[in-house]
Amino acid sequence: MAHPTASTPPSGPRQGVVLLGATGSIGASSLRVIASHGARLALVGIAARTDWRRLSEIAREFSVRNVAIFDSKACAEARRSGAFAGDVRILEGAAGLAELATLPDARTVLVAVVGTAGLEPAMAAIAAGKDLALASKEILVLAGKFVMAAARRHGTRILPVDSEHNAVFQCIEGHPSSGVRRVVLTASGGAFRDWTGEQLRHAMPADALKHPNWSMGPKVTVDSATLANKGLELIEALWLFGLRPDQCTAVIHPQSIVHCLVEFNDGAMLAQLSPSSMTFPIQHALLYPDRVEGVEPPIDFTRLVSLEFRPVDEMRFPMIRLAREAMVAGGAAPAVFNAANEVAVEAFLGGRIPFLAIPAIVGNALARTANFEPSDLGAVLAADSEARRGASADVLSFK
Ligand code: MG
Repeated sequence: MAHPTASTPPSGPRQGVVLLGATGSIGASSLRVIASHGARLALVGIAARTDWRRLSEIAREFSVRNVAIFDSKACAEARRSGAFAGDVRILEGAAGLAELATLPDARTVLVAVVGTAGLEPAMAAIAAGKDLALASKEILVLAGKFVMAAARRHGTRILPVDSEHNAVFQCIEGHPSSGVRRVVLTASGGAFRDWTGEQLRHAMPADALKHPNWSMGPKVTVDSATLANKGLELIEALWLFGLRPDQCTAVIHPQSIVHCLVEFNDGAMLAQLSPSSMTFPIQHALLYPDRVEGVEPPIDFTRLVSLEFRPVDEMRFPMIRLAREAMVAGGAAPAVFNAANEVAVEAFLGGRIPFLAIPAIVGNALARTANFEPSDLGAVLAADSEARRGASADVLSFK
């Protein structure tokens, strides 16, 4: 039997979507979802860091008239190139992304940019009352306190796009939060799931980039290999669902079919299952609360063999322990964890440090920082810069 057929699209105007990070991996999956639900969704704005050539193709294909390019040199090239039609507005920098995020015909702003560049546009979207579909983990890891408070103040909905958080959102919906005992995020275990500690000493970037299940950008693929990604996701879950640190846990699940387990006080667990493709959570977030036919076929139980679960080995993967410590410490510690990790991963990908230097550098950064409770976003960003400086100096000590 085929999966349920698409329901009749709603009459009236299509729902406007702004896609920040249109040229990345989440961007590509989002475009597939938008293209196959053209009667419901209209792409009204797109942004990227530098890749204006790809942006111009997307603008033509989806008739998008508002474009933003974060990098000013790339933006100048794009304006000179003539690659965009005459009626396309080309906005620049963080302010340009923030302006896209408040376009009058946008209902949903999907933030899928790497790093902290998504913070300002996300805050702008919240203040403008847009639905915020959130794929960039950094936003909640750095600024969860401020983002969630602003969303409450403006009555803005935050729809998680990260597969695990989207799964928790689906399982928790309709249940009072007082009934939730804990949330268990699944982790594939990444490229080094079955490597020994000795093998990890010699792990190369090309090894780390071979993810068993998901196709993603290089930063998050390395983060999967260290389990830093799961650590960032635990912190993200804490903010999204208003949990305590001891309620956020992870389990290794090699098949990446079950995306979360939510355990209630009575011991019952609800799980969310779907194939390991981002089109599933993206469609859920963009069309929420409607359930219509997906872009890809669902799980085929005539072919699926087994679902396994194993505990996380914090000895081999110390990044998950460091993330948990940062989550428990709160304050600026998660921002420090994130910043030092970004510097270390970039250095690892560039061949400047060995794989096991990543947790060493992040551990140093956390140990050297006197933690504090940031009073505003500026204080968080200052802690972020300070941690980057310290981690960069640490990187140099490895050669
Ligand atoms: Mg994830």
